[in-house]
Amino acid sequence: MDYIYVFSTLATGLILGSFMSVLVFRLDVRSGIISGRSECPRCLTRLKWYDLVPLLSFIYLGAKCRYCKNKISAVYPAMELATAGVFVTYSFLNGYSSLNSFYELAIIFILLALLFSDYIFYILPDKLIIAGFLISLAYFLLFKFEIVGSSLITGLVLSATFAILNIVSGGRWMGLGDAKLAFFIGFVLSYPSGVWAILISIWIGAIWGIVLVLLKRANLKTHLPFGSFMAAVAVLLIIFQKHEIWIPLIPRL
Ligand SMILES: [Zn+2]
Repeated sequence: MDYIYVFSTLATGLILGSFMSVLVFRLDVRSGIISGRSECPRCLTRLKWYDLVPLLSFIYLGAKCRYCKNKISAVYPAMELATAGVFVTYSFLNGYSSLNSFYELAIIFILLALLFSDYIFYILPDKLIIAGFLISLAYFLLFKFEIVGSSLITGLVLSATFAILNIVSGGRWMGLGDAKLAFFIGFVLSYPSGVWAILISIWIGAIWGIVLVLLKRANLKTHLPFGSFMAAVAVLLIIFQKHEIWIPLIPRL
């Protein structure tokens, strides 16, 4: 592992993280394909390339817009750093020279975009889920045909469970977006990893909720971004599933 390799992976991750923030915010605000150029959300000044250098512009500008001096949300550098960190960790553990690693990084990118979208807006955009599903379906049809059946069944059973919970609770426990995301994760991770991903997310979500209630930061009606937990656990499973350091509880694929 040499420095150039680490640096180039880090830079790629930061750039992709920057692209992700554009994707997440535009998908929410306009629900359309990314169009136009980047602008300050407050003063609407079109930003120059040197205002948009991932992470560095944020630090250099002291978290303020160059033109109107309004604060820039820390969400942008957080997304860039999180994406870069995940990409470096993935490539350190799995390399990124094979077709399989390109595929897995594409899925990780979409899962991270869903994670942030749900965390910030409580929205899991259909377009992201459909794009991820189609990428995964194409990859499986070409290279892992034998798991297409079990992947489809895993996704359908998990999403049906969520859909029932949604109906029973009148949409209070789970949103329909969660059901769609559960299908996507079940399909990508297949059986048994997909089931584990959802179970672990439920445990983490429950612990998170209890801690928030104990800290009086939430009550039983507070909406938890459950999709974010599912996406985060799925990303971790994809990164670590080929490695001994993963909890022995979970059978590897
Ligand atoms: Zn501005």
